[in-house]
Amino acid sequence: MVPPLRRTGRQPNGNEIRLETARREANMIPDATGRKGRGQGEEEISRRSKIASRELGAGIERESTLREEGASPLSPHVTALEAPAPFLRAVEELGIEFEGAELSRLGLYLAHLLDTTRRFNLTAIRDPEQAWTRHILDSLSLFPLLVTQNAKRVADVGSGGGLPGLPLAILLPRTRFSLIEATGKKARFLAAVAERLALANVAVCEGRAEMLAHDRAVHRESYDAVLARAVGPLATLIELTAPFAKVGGLIVAIKGERAAAEVAAAKRALEALRLAVEKTRRTATGTLVILRKNQSTPRGFPRRPGEPAHNPLGVSRGPRVPKRKDRRGV
Ligand code: SAM
Repeated sequence: MVPPLRRTGRQPNGNEIRLETARREANMIPDATGRKGRGQGEEEISRRSKIASRELGAGIERESTLREEGASPLSPHVTALEAPAPFLRAVEELGIEFEGAELSRLGLYLAHLLDTTRRFNLTAIRDPEQAWTRHILDSLSLFPLLVTQNAKRVADVGSGGGLPGLPLAILLPRTRFSLIEATGKKARFLAAVAERLALANVAVCEGRAEMLAHDRAVHRESYDAVLARAVGPLATLIELTAPFAKVGGLIVAIKGERAAAEVAAAKRALEALRLAVEKTRRTATGTLVILRKNQSTPRGFPRRPGEPAHNPLGVSRGPRVPKRKDRRGV
């Protein structure tokens, strides 16, 4: 059995972790039955969301607009799903002990994800028990890494329905998460569910990574860790994610069994983007490809929207250093 990870104080490896438990905050959040704790109310949720929007800075102007656009995509009568025993055992193996209302918030998030999927597609997995493992556990497999890295600012690129970003944001209230998503409908779902869960540490940034990554004031080279799951082959994914990471930061892709082959196929893209493979790590649900950014990303990356997917670096035509006309916003 792995000893539980502490979110405050000193970890066994000596890293100082400043991610304090938000027990007090957790008391203010609706529980699985929709009951509200001390001082809780719609006004309080909205006040905290506004503060979060101000604190998190940009992309966030768009975020506030997302919150105001039309009716919420969420059904009002959804209640939290209960976590099945195999999921709870697997989480324990990861060294995670849930605190406060974390588990019921995960259940409420999952309930909204599955409920909203009946109206528009956010996930192919409809079975709740499978979803606990394949979505929530898979996302939480990144938790130990973010804790030991003491990540304060994290981006989830191509967040879709909020995976892996939202489950991690629930467990790491002192880490600021930017969920980057190109599709408007999905971004609106993310903004609504983050608000419903009173996640003051989450900003939703609607837009393409190719554009947002050139925003030096807010996003470029600004994140301690950049995460992505199911956002294309590794060569594409690293061009979309690497520019967001600080020098010294991590890019972490959740991959499947073909991870090693993908790393080999992305060799030239890794070189062009100045990334080093730190390790690949098997988890209960997949494989983490952990990359370290030791140098600044060349200014022309990512290339224009669509290029990283249509013409992945070094895969079909060899690494192509972008021409001046491809550079934007720099
Ligand atoms: N990460 C989520 C998951 O694991 O369930 C969603 C995966 S989904 C297959 C890929 C998501 O990435 C889609 O929601 C898509 O809109 C988004 N996406 C693809 N390319 C993108 C880009 N260039 N910039 C931002 N989002 C992008």
